[in-house]
Formats: sequence, C-alpha cells, structure tokens
Amino acid sequence: MKALVKTERGCTDLKLMDIPKPVCPDNGVLLKVRVVAVCGSDIHYYKDLEPMPIPQVMGHEFCGDIVEVGKDVSGWEIGDFVISRVPLYPCGECPECRDGHPERCRSRKSAGLQTQGAYTEYIVSFPNLLYRVPEGVSERMAACCEPSAVCLHAVKRFHVRPEWTVAVSGVGMIGLLTIQFLHIYGVKNIIAIGLDSDAPKRFPIAEKFGAVKTINGQHRSAAEQVLEYTGGRGVDLAIDCVGAVPAIDELFKMMARGGTLGAIGVPGPDARVSVNWNKFVWGSQSVISSFYSAPEDWEELIGYMKDGTLSFEEVFTHDLKLEEWEQVFKNASNPNYVKAVFRPNA
Ligand SMILES: [Zn+2]
Ligand SMILES: [Zn+2]
Repeated sequence: MKALVKTERGCTDLKLMDIPKPVCPDNGVLLKVRVVAVCGSDIHYYKDLEPMPIPQVMGHEFCGDIVEVGKDVSGWEIGDFVISRVPLYPCGECPECRDGHPERCRSRKSAGLQTQGAYTEYIVSFPNLLYRVPEGVSERMAACCEPSAVCLHAVKRFHVRPEWTVAVSGVGMIGLLTIQFLHIYGVKNIIAIGLDSDAPKRFPIAEKFGAVKTINGQHRSAAEQVLEYTGGRGVDLAIDCVGAVPAIDELFKMMARGGTLGAIGVPGPDARVSVNWNKFVWGSQSVISSFYSAPEDWEELIGYMKDGTLSFEEVFTHDLKLEEWEQVFKNASNPNYVKAVFRPNA
C-alpha cells in the first residue's frame, strides 16, 4: 500500500513508498483511512526537532472505514465509519498502566511515532478505541478528535470558571480549539495572543470561536498589553499553546494573584523557564500542565460535534493527497496555514 514515510534523520524529504498492508489482529480491526490530519508534532518530527524512530509513517489523527474485523472482536462490523483514538500499545504491566493510565506508560508504542501511523491507506485499531462517526459530522472534523480531546482535557484540568478572564497564547489548531472549549465551558472573557503572521487568518478564526480580544505580541510585550486590557489585574488563567520559552515568560507576567498558568504546548527537549519565585508564591499562583486526553473526553467532544456545539470547519486550509505533502510540510509557517488533512485513498 502507498505510504508517506520519514526515512532519514534531519529535515529531509518524506518519501512516497510501497509498504506492506498491515495484518488485522484477532483482537483488532483494520481501517481504510478516509482522512488523516497533520498534527503540529508531525511537522516537528519531519524537521527532526523531536527525533522519531525511522523509517516511520506518521499520522495519529484519523478516521476511516472498517474493512476487516478480528475474530475475537464483537460489536463492530465491516463498513462501519469510525473515529479511532490513537493506538498506543502500552506495556500493560508498569505502575502507570496498572493505575489505568496507559497514556503515561513509559514503554508504550504510539501509532504514528513508534508504530505505523495513518499517512497511508490502512491502519490497525482496537475496539476499545473506536467511536461511530455521528450523522452530520464531517470526515475532517471526525479526523480531528485527537487534537480536540487534548484541548478539552486541558480545559477540564484547569478547572475553568465562567467568570474568569483567560488568555490563550498561540492561535494554531490547539489554541483555536482551546478557545472554543473555553467558550463551551462558559468563559466569556477570552484573550487570544499571537504574532503578525496570525493577523490575516488565525485571529479572525479566534474571534469567531469566542475570543473577545486579540493581542499581537510580536512588537510589544503581550503581558504589558494584557495588563493594560485588564486594568492592571492580569488574567485568572494564562494558557500556553505554543511551547516556546519567551511566550511562557510573558504568561507568568500576566497572571493575576491567585492565577494559574496552564501548559499545553510541548517545548523542545531542553526548554528551561525561569520564574520570579517571590512573585509566584506571594501571588499564590499555580501551574497545571496537561498532556494527552482520556476516553471520556472523546465521548464528551463527539457529543458536542453531534449536536453542533463544537464546529471548526474554518480551520481546514489544505485538503490534499499524500503526493501533495510538500504543500503542508514545507509551508507550515505560511500565515494562511491552519490545519491540513490528507486523503490517502483518494
Ligand atoms: Zn496530534
Ligand atoms: Zn506500561
């Protein structure tokens, strides 16, 4: 089957190759991929900023049709159109696995990173990871349940309250979806922070998704502007969706007393943040990080997709065949880029 493969270290071209079609395991299903979305972390892997094992097929945000059902599987049939959580292959034996957190397993193998992902025609998944795509939900939205779940999980971990003022730093896919979930959770006063390149495309989407104010932090400190906007008080919650140290520094400076810094963006392996600890303690502030998602997040957000509460068709700027991969991977810093999807079987 046709697959897009990272074959070398460094920021080198991905290769379109013929690879063996996976065998359907007795306890799993084989999916024919309809849509796979390009994650920001895939772009990191492509650039080799976060070295992944090679050769490997990326792609962990996908939906598809069941084409084979393992003999031990019940409740799913050939032809079902499904969303799949990321196949994780946890060890099942470490303390984290036994504690019910396979996503924290230290030796887990994750599809699209340590095992074959969905930038190809077929992928294996398992019945406990599947959800039927509700009627009326687009293929592209269905493929983006994974980043949505990450954002919803974070918003829940931050214990947001409707009366809060919340700043979201970064208006890529994760920032934009986080804004939408804050809005769904009743937060009215949402500030979106970005750069010059966010002005043409991403700021207007942020406003559509619920931001009441956008701030460009490129030429003037974002913290200064947020403090000005909030009459010197700062924000109850400052969320990082960038993972860059200078942006995180700004967030520490804009937190209100009693405020929380919420960390979603994943920084490089050597990122170090320095904090004014005196101000942090006197201010009784907190930092809460959030990584990955839980099954109940997926159920909740699929419900929001089904009833139309969650809708983000505006983010899809590239809808491509695998052959057209350069348009996204060599172009991701383009101001008109937000989210790309591939249709490997098109
Ligand atoms: Zn992702
Ligand atoms: Zn484990």
